[in-house]
Amino acid sequence: MMEYRKLPRGTETISVIGLGNSSTGTAGETETEAVVAMAVENGINYFDLAASDAVPFEAHGRAVAGCRDQVYFQVHFGADYRSGTYGWTLKLEDIKRSVDWQLKALKTDYIDFGFLHCIDEEADLKEAETAGTIRYIKELQEAGVVRRIGLSTHTPVIANKLLDTGILDMLMFSINPAYDYRHGEYAVGEVDERQALYRRCEAEGVGISVMKAFSGGQLLSDATSPFGKALTEYQCIRYALDKPGVLTVLPGVRNREDLKRILGYFEASPEETDYSVIGSFAPAEAEGSCVYCNHCKPCPAGLDVGLINKYYDLAKAGDALARDHYANLEKKASACVGCGHCDRRCPFHVVQTERMKEIQEYFGA
Ligand code: SF4
Ligand code: SF4
Repeated sequence: MMEYRKLPRGTETISVIGLGNSSTGTAGETETEAVVAMAVENGINYFDLAASDAVPFEAHGRAVAGCRDQVYFQVHFGADYRSGTYGWTLKLEDIKRSVDWQLKALKTDYIDFGFLHCIDEEADLKEAETAGTIRYIKELQEAGVVRRIGLSTHTPVIANKLLDTGILDMLMFSINPAYDYRHGEYAVGEVDERQALYRRCEAEGVGISVMKAFSGGQLLSDATSPFGKALTEYQCIRYALDKPGVLTVLPGVRNREDLKRILGYFEASPEETDYSVIGSFAPAEAEGSCVYCNHCKPCPAGLDVGLINKYYDLAKAGDALARDHYANLEKKASACVGCGHCDRRCPFHVVQTERMKEIQEYFGA
């Protein structure tokens, strides 16, 4: 059964698994249309249109023709498909023509989430400002053509700069254990910096849609995993969904077979989604920080250790709601009996017996 998370600053409820389109085009239009139809039937309502070629656009338009108002398109301002393949541009006139092309191909006259596309460098951000692209997206929002504004980036510094402007409702960011632990092409930023970005998004009510959850497939095999040990798709999805701020993970699927396997996530056992094995290859900086994985369950006193830690970290990051959420917990840090079970079970060597005292002191309960 699909699960949904609400856009903090809106009423949209978004499926926790959406559809990425980095690979659909290879299967051709007919299969892509069938993939989208199958996704909709299974409750997926969030579709990212950063595709590797032009193939998926008309297929999406046809597949959602009868339910356009029940799905969300994440459309990228800066991805250009007019030649048939993906091109990246910062030129406003090209962006305008490409967005028109995308709307036409999708057979729609509005964009649910209009994203400033793939801005990874400060110079590119400046260019997007001086070329007028940001102003253009805002004008389209005022005109009702764009409903929500987003940014796709791999760079925490750029994400933070756009967050400073207050215009974002969504951030598309590359999240997986490899990038978070400084492995791979898009492992941008320090361990703490990346976690702080996720917490900032949650604290400020900006949702995150996750790209590259499997590190472009690298994490799925022992031979290519930077840890020398493969993780599964389900472990990677759970990992991303446990990060603060994350609303949806957008795996790129090639065909219905891939989608069926991804949807199996909802039937997977807790053991199949448990990613705590990453504790054994996390770098020193990650030691001692709770990642909310809940591998330490069950707590004999009934505490939800991961959730308590998440609310604590979020409250410290300035999330006013986190304090309320904590106050509503049936079992708070004060109920910890210091048995040490979680300390022994934690692969990240978090000393919760100490941390629970700290959390109790912070919240006063
Ligand atoms: S204390 Fe350790 S095992 Fe428990 S939720 Fe945090 S990181 Fe996971
Ligand atoms: S130390 Fe506290 S939080 Fe950890 S398992 Fe024991 S009672 Fe639960």
